[in-house]
Amino acid sequence: MIRAIVGANWGDEGKGKLTDVLAENSDLVVRFQGGANAGHTIINEFGKFALHLLPSGIFHSQVLNIIGPGVALDPDAFFSELDSILERDIVHPNLAISDRAQVLMDFHILLDTLEEERLGKHKFGSTKSGIAPFYSDKFAKVGIQVCQLMDKDLLHDRLTRSLVKKNVLMEHLYHRAPLDADELTEKYYAYGQRLKPWVKDTSLLLDKAVKENKTILLEGQLGALRDPDHGIFPFTTSSSPLAGYAAVGAGLPPWAITEVIAVTKAYSSSVGAGVFPSCITGEEAEELRKRGGDSGEYGAKTGRPRDVGWFDAVATKYGCLVQGATQVAMTNLDVLHYLDEIPVCVAYELDGKRITHFPSTPDLQRVKPVYEIFPGWKTDIRGETEYGKLPKNCRDYVEKIEKMIERPITFLSTGPHRDEICFRK
Ligand code: GDP
Repeated sequence: MIRAIVGANWGDEGKGKLTDVLAENSDLVVRFQGGANAGHTIINEFGKFALHLLPSGIFHSQVLNIIGPGVALDPDAFFSELDSILERDIVHPNLAISDRAQVLMDFHILLDTLEEERLGKHKFGSTKSGIAPFYSDKFAKVGIQVCQLMDKDLLHDRLTRSLVKKNVLMEHLYHRAPLDADELTEKYYAYGQRLKPWVKDTSLLLDKAVKENKTILLEGQLGALRDPDHGIFPFTTSSSPLAGYAAVGAGLPPWAITEVIAVTKAYSSSVGAGVFPSCITGEEAEELRKRGGDSGEYGAKTGRPRDVGWFDAVATKYGCLVQGATQVAMTNLDVLHYLDEIPVCVAYELDGKRITHFPSTPDLQRVKPVYEIFPGWKTDIRGETEYGKLPKNCRDYVEKIEKMIERPITFLSTGPHRDEICFRK
């Protein structure tokens, strides 16, 4: 069985927790896109971890964790994350890195940071992890593959040629010192040597796993609305977080993906710039932000307070559609227990008309949310594992949303810990 776990919304939906839960019975967990620019929070018997690059199966020694060719591999971030796990003496990481993955370098982060500064109030809200310059280089064919780190001359040659244009920007646009190919070659060649034990042709490993009918989890980062083609462009990321891309970014046949689990929260949250119709503000938002997630709604990568709002059925239905979701996991259901009434955004109003489709960004920026008010359940459901034991108002909330988003909700997460989950078939 091959399952993709992907976000239905703006990211931070709780994919990491679900992946950690499902990884227990999986043979392989694969990251297929993005880099260290987002984080999955995982809380298990070893403690609390914010994973950025390592696949969420890393805590299970029987799971082979693969960093696929679609990932932006930042060796600095990779080793600091790996060291933080190794020094706690938890598990022996079972890991493979694609020889075709490309390397996110220091200068990608620098260029990302300088560009956001230059853009000022027009900035994109980047996490400044170098993602946009990295993918620009990849598609301009001047990126460096992991396999190219192993050959010093080749590495030096590629860096020298790629730096010609970058140094024009460095000197004349950003007024900074030029980048030095010799220095970078030494640094990244040394990284290549450190990475070497894990570097493999991961497509061959996956081909073998498919032939042997292994259970594979494909772990998405961010969410559908951040997809460059289908999301809230230009407030999107630079690689596709869609299940459709998972086959490409991992190195698997598209037909092999049998289940697509779209993850959504029982309310909404978004970090970074963008359009968020059901966003709330003031005290109401402060309360939800404080109660959300495992310790408030603050970005796992940046610590930035996340914008929060009510569940958006229009955006989530669209997110599920573009993900090709076969089912949905709803997380953070426990968070809403304090509310007497719970608004759900069931439609948008655009130029005086009610719409239930998710429009392109310029129209989306003009919509007003249309709410339906649901009665709260006022009972602490944290840790509940049996669907039938949830209060009736809570089940009604789930079942009405299920109808609106036109997908079965098969997992309900009732707390941040691994065992706080209801399986509902
Ligand atoms: P991801 O990137 O999709 O994995 O999401 P994040 O880890 O960035 O954010 C999800 C937040 O919700 C984290 O703080 C999780 O610990 C937390 N979380 C996940 N599921 C639940 C849940 O069911 N209840 C509560 N209270 N927190 C949860």
